[in-house]
Amino acid sequence: MPQIPLRPTQLIVNLSQLRRNLNAIRARVRPAKVLVMLKANAYGHGLEGVAAFIEPDVDYIGVAVLNEAIALRQMGIRKPILVAGGCLPEQIPYYLEHDLTLTVSSPEILSAAETVSQAGGRALKIHIKIDTGMERAGIRWYEAAPLLEQSLHCQRVEVEGIYTHFANSETPETPHLKRKRGYAAPSTQLERFAETLDFYVRRSLPTPPLRHAANSGAILNLPESFFEMVRPGILFYGIYPGEQSARTVNVSPAATWVSRVFYAKTTRAGHPVSYGSLWHGEQPLETVTIPCGYADGYFRRLTNRASVLVNGKKYPQVGRICMDQFMVNLMGDSAQLGDDVILLGRAASGEQISAEDLAGWAGTNAYEVMTNISARVPRVFVED
Ligand SMILES: *Cc1c(COP(=O)(O)O)cnc(C)c1O
Repeated sequence: MPQIPLRPTQLIVNLSQLRRNLNAIRARVRPAKVLVMLKANAYGHGLEGVAAFIEPDVDYIGVAVLNEAIALRQMGIRKPILVAGGCLPEQIPYYLEHDLTLTVSSPEILSAAETVSQAGGRALKIHIKIDTGMERAGIRWYEAAPLLEQSLHCQRVEVEGIYTHFANSETPETPHLKRKRGYAAPSTQLERFAETLDFYVRRSLPTPPLRHAANSGAILNLPESFFEMVRPGILFYGIYPGEQSARTVNVSPAATWVSRVFYAKTTRAGHPVSYGSLWHGEQPLETVTIPCGYADGYFRRLTNRASVLVNGKKYPQVGRICMDQFMVNLMGDSAQLGDDVILLGRAASGEQISAEDLAGWAGTNAYEVMTNISARVPRVFVED
């Protein structure tokens, strides 16, 4: 069967760069283990390609939802997988069947896990999630002791880990921030986590289970939070979690979002471009059409705000972004059908558009930009 040529709109993922990013993180956190977060289609980079490549280099894999974990097992991934999100009791048998690590945040789920383990005749691995200030999921630190006590009495469940998650780790903490009412300071969250872990000392248990807390922000800003394992997400993909994050780990983006000119024409002065007639030129100029739109994750709210690189030079996007296409003003220059376009990434010319640029234009963060690049955009994996 002849292969259908891929769309010219592609996300090119440099796997070697992902490995370099992981090595840089490892060097910072050593001897802590590294759980790499592959949730949300590996932050949009493409779960299958990223997982198969990086599996040998990671200690643990993290995802948010059960389906992601099962997809990884179905691809043949054998490393331990932590499902960090919540869970309904009826989902627990799937954790046992696929050898997945369950996050436990309540006595109900712990009891259900014990029952499933007993019925299945196998130990289900669990990590207990302590909420130290996020108020999302997790047993609150001030009411965790009974759950920890219950976990000591489980016969079949294997309590492998205990963890928490930071609300504000991407911004370095200042005394001013720490005093701010209603602010969950990373240091405060760490103190609360330590308070919870004191349970194991009081019970004279030799070692608590595997402790972990640090997301990308904490890896950069908070060495006290490394414990036995860290959980990088965005940093592994080469993106810093916030503008103010310390650059204590040197990473670079692994993804380049490319396309090509699909149509080039001269647009007359005063002739509006695209739906809603939101833009027109004051003199005739060349505009090009790019085969990428909001259904690919190029947000509609980027309309008249974004820039793209055409043949390595930066030009403004103009007119309403459509579902499948958008237009670019070549500012008096011209281009040919098939010319190179970069929506995100660095051109050979040195010009670049970062995930932070797109995020700024769209009024969001780099996480949302990356995780919204849709399934319609082919992922192309390269190594250097
Ligand atoms: C997503 C996630 C992470 C990774 O967060 P980053 O900010 O991308 O590093 C770590 N831990 C948990 C529980 C998560 O849900």
